[in-house]
Amino acid sequence: MNDKQLVSLEKKVCMVCIKKYNSEEVLEGQTATSWGLCPEHEKLHKNGYICIIAIDLNKSKNIIDEMTYPNDVYRTGRIVYVHRPFLKKVMDIPSKSIELPVIFGVDELVDQLEDLYDSIGNIPQ
Ligand SMILES: [Zn+2]
Repeated sequence: MNDKQLVSLEKKVCMVCIKKYNSEEVLEGQTATSWGLCPEHEKLHKNGYICIIAIDLNKSKNIIDEMTYPNDVYRTGRIVYVHRPFLKKVMDIPSKSIELPVIFGVDELVDQLEDLYDSIGNIPQ
């Protein structure tokens, strides 16, 4: 048997719901919590959904195209889940962004997507 080592699992914060959860990764000398996806939101990501989190651009800081960090955004509290093929169809999203679990967008974008969803409904895979 190996000597007993103190092993702790890394705590992460879910980008979507901002809840802390234990990741499967073993913490190696680093104490800062990092962003990730909790099991529930990881599942949605794997099932092909992208999360659009509405933000207020005026209250957010350091917003640079495609380089938005969860720490820097001011959330308005609205979150929608959109199936990736649907999003690709209705919006011009860069291909590297479409694979992300989360996209930050303004309220108008969320309105627009909700309207589109109402009129088109869920498209089959
Ligand atoms: Zn979550």
